[in-house]
Amino acid sequence: MLLDVGEGSLGQLASLYEGPTLWEVLISLSAIWISHPHADHHLGLMKVLAARRQAAADLGLLGGKPPPMLIMAPRPVLAWLREHRSWDATVEWGEAVEGDRGGGEGLMKENYLVDMERMSPFAYQYLERELDLLNLTNVGVHHCPFAFGVVLDGRAGWRLVYSGDTRPCRRLEQAGRGATVLIHEATFGNEKAAEAVERKHSTVGEALDVARRMEAKTVILTHFSQRYPKFPVLPPDYELQVCVAFDLMTLRFKDVGRAAALLPALQKLFPVEEEASDEQILMSQIEGK
Ligand SMILES: [Zn+2]
Ligand SMILES: [Zn+2]
Repeated sequence: MLLDVGEGSLGQLASLYEGPTLWEVLISLSAIWISHPHADHHLGLMKVLAARRQAAADLGLLGGKPPPMLIMAPRPVLAWLREHRSWDATVEWGEAVEGDRGGGEGLMKENYLVDMERMSPFAYQYLERELDLLNLTNVGVHHCPFAFGVVLDGRAGWRLVYSGDTRPCRRLEQAGRGATVLIHEATFGNEKAAEAVERKHSTVGEALDVARRMEAKTVILTHFSQRYPKFPVLPPDYELQVCVAFDLMTLRFKDVGRAAALLPALQKLFPVEEEASDEQILMSQIEGK
């Protein structure tokens, strides 16, 4: 399952998995969940879908089609996908609608669109069967219209919470109580508290406070502003298991504690730098760094 699929998602997967393994990983994807309509969270979707189809053809799957996948998204993203469907016949689309139990045309298409505000019983049954998920709870968060976080409960007993983009959100704290792992955005450093309010994101300190109130066992911070080129500054007194996400980071649930213990070493590898100026950020984007 992918939680959000930003522009470089396929490239990141291709960096992690080579050749046939990449194809197998793509074919084994059962669901994609998209948090909100901002482009940095869904612009990589079509490339992933096209690569899945290519993988199915190369692996000689029946009919050259990948197995069905759910795409759970807020309504504006679904509207965009339906528009796309009307002119692109290279990818197959179905609708997982309320009341649909997977009968009839059930599970014959490559991709099923699911309105995350009206999850059908069919979608829940599918998630349980394919991903061993006992529950998936979409939670409205404070960022933009149609912005969501998610709480995933696995049969093995873990609870994973992902904030999407948001200000600190009580609803998410309550829905995700006792999370095994909380993945929370921390766009800004603590000194940018006013900017975080204005742009409806969280600071590092606010993300840690959410984790504390949620009683999360581990928090993984992510979605850092480009103004923090290497590593966010953590307050000296945090008492949680904290990990800092970076590109291609791979973690198993059982290793999360060990990853948190690596934090001091990572901080030494990426010493705090002067804040990058707007000009430096622009130059690094132009140079593709
Ligand atoms: Zn956003
Ligand atoms: Zn974002």
